[in-house]
Amino acid sequence: MSDDFFPVPSQWAAEALLDREGRAADYARSIEDADAYWLERARRLDWITPPTKADESSFNEADFGVKWFADGALNVSANCIDRHLATRGDQVAIIWEPDSPEAQVRRYTYKQVHEEVCRLANVLKDAGARKGDRITIYMPMIPEAAFALLACARIGAIHSVVFGGFSPEALAGRLVDCDSTIVITADEGRRAGKTVPLKANVDAALAEAPCVRKVVVVRATGGDIRMKDGRDIWLHEAAARVSPDCPPEPMNAEDPLFILYTSGSTGKPKGVLHTSGGYLLWASLTHELCFDYRPGDIWWCAADIGWVTGHSYIVYGPLANGATTLMYEGVPNWPTPARIWEVVDKHQVNTIFTAPTALRALMKEGDDHVRSTSRASLRVLGTVGEPINPEAWRWYHHVVGEDRCPIIDTWWQTETGGAMIAPMPGATDLKPGSATLPMPGVIPQILDGDGAVQEGAAEGNLVIAGSWPGQMRTVWGDHDRFFQTYFTTFPGKYTTGDGARRDADGYYWITGRVDDVINVSGHRMGTAEVESALVLHESVAEAAVVGFPHDIKGQGIYAYVTLNANEEPSDDLRKDLVKWVRTEIGPIATPDAIQFAPGLPKTRSGKIMRRILRKIAEGEVSAQALGDVSTLADPSVVDNLVANRQG
Ligand code: ATP
Ligand code: MG
Repeated sequence: MSDDFFPVPSQWAAEALLDREGRAADYARSIEDADAYWLERARRLDWITPPTKADESSFNEADFGVKWFADGALNVSANCIDRHLATRGDQVAIIWEPDSPEAQVRRYTYKQVHEEVCRLANVLKDAGARKGDRITIYMPMIPEAAFALLACARIGAIHSVVFGGFSPEALAGRLVDCDSTIVITADEGRRAGKTVPLKANVDAALAEAPCVRKVVVVRATGGDIRMKDGRDIWLHEAAARVSPDCPPEPMNAEDPLFILYTSGSTGKPKGVLHTSGGYLLWASLTHELCFDYRPGDIWWCAADIGWVTGHSYIVYGPLANGATTLMYEGVPNWPTPARIWEVVDKHQVNTIFTAPTALRALMKEGDDHVRSTSRASLRVLGTVGEPINPEAWRWYHHVVGEDRCPIIDTWWQTETGGAMIAPMPGATDLKPGSATLPMPGVIPQILDGDGAVQEGAAEGNLVIAGSWPGQMRTVWGDHDRFFQTYFTTFPGKYTTGDGARRDADGYYWITGRVDDVINVSGHRMGTAEVESALVLHESVAEAAVVGFPHDIKGQGIYAYVTLNANEEPSDDLRKDLVKWVRTEIGPIATPDAIQFAPGLPKTRSGKIMRRILRKIAEGEVSAQALGDVSTLADPSVVDNLVANRQG
């Protein structure tokens, strides 16, 4: 099975930060000599007071808590900006690529970022912000969004970023949940040639969120908006009046840095809280190791800043490492499906980090849009967000990377702060569809339904047996929900909610959410497996599979299938797909129903909301049954799915 295995290219092994033996030795030390290992790793940050203790966490009810470097003090924004000023003050920190290819690129050096962040921080202080206050950031993908995160970190305010695409209701809910007093927004956003009325949405949301006292507004498009006297502040006016310097607030390592609501794939979003020291260390270390980041690299994480990936890998990780990070305002396939690769060429990007959903969307438009670009600058290709089906993996590797660039499939969660299971370019042989091996200090285990630890090759519930620096500390305002959600299913362990398989080489394969496992006539099956088989078919662009109650089999398989551009749905194709899955996996995986779906319900971060698909398959389509849909990118796809339900 040679094409299922991609050994580390010899040149990579020779030049990488860690080679195979290096990674194994580093991992072993991180487990066996954890305290010394982490205190040493912590030195990659600049501390005001260096920590003398590393992990003091417990997952047990009696002394429950997650705590790292608790006697250390630092400031996150100083780590991302100030400490680079002497050595690389004139290096570009942020490249901003606008939505329209014709619009003007902006570049900010570390010195310029320093001034922008200090001014914004002073504006926030003048608006009454104090250490520990919550500030909500509702912004388009413009540099000011990054400045906003860093300005909050600078003064010790806790930021909560809400996707610029969310509705006023969704925004209001999150404002109230964390009792935000200030909102930072823009007049309008731009995405794929359209404008998004951000300020108007804020105005509407504030009717339901009396906690907010001030709104700081960035002029982005110059669109016509209403400013409310005494409440709304134009950033460009206020920034001109304040000092360009703002000393960073000393923070304890365990002081909160931000709240971020999860994507809401499995239920009501949780307000995940991350703190300062451990989180920054984790973002910075994983950014370096997973992507073999080198000074001078041009780094592009193509996520939105409203997603944890944007926090850790557009802003905190890369800037802590002194990188040049590219921020892109638009979407990968506008104005054409070549746009993403054209941006790579334009800025000579070395590493790109995106999501399987984006890759599948690009793949279905054909290879010409890729081949029309050079991509010669690319060294490493990253992915995150969902299991990447081997078909998309191979396309990414072969067509985009021309067999030259390692694919870094990173498994992690909002809760984990950064990558947990992932390859390293020079150290890890690759298998398409596997996130491979744990990062330093991460102890994954596979448990059966009774919580028994499975050894060797096994499949079951993925848990993490101990803490790691980037772990979330609580659910905002509901510490008990934190404990109940993650530490009671399997006492003493962190329950990820994901299922995984470990193969004979110790590689991990994420099989999807545990809740999504289907049990057909006593056979347990991950939805990812059936989906991967469907996507292998030449007519299929994307597939989502769920179980539904079945009289004989217990559960039947219901597949939603999006066809490639130019493909027409037909009964023949439906039969062909059923036969296809039978041959690819076996008769046990035969879909009972296939529904052609022009669009699937996805979160803003691009994840398929299977809980909605499950309800539709079960025929429960009331708004109450469908649950929280506030995080859907396009709620209208649900109506189409309901109307075309099968059976
Ligand atoms: P919620 O927790 O509100 O239901 P969510 O789990 O979708 O939403 P995120 O934290 O954004 O919110 O997503 C984390 C999940 O994404 C993981 O638990 C996993 O199911 C999936 N995931 C992320 N990266 C990968 C990957 N590389 N391979 C497989 N699955 C992944
Ligand atoms: Mg989750």
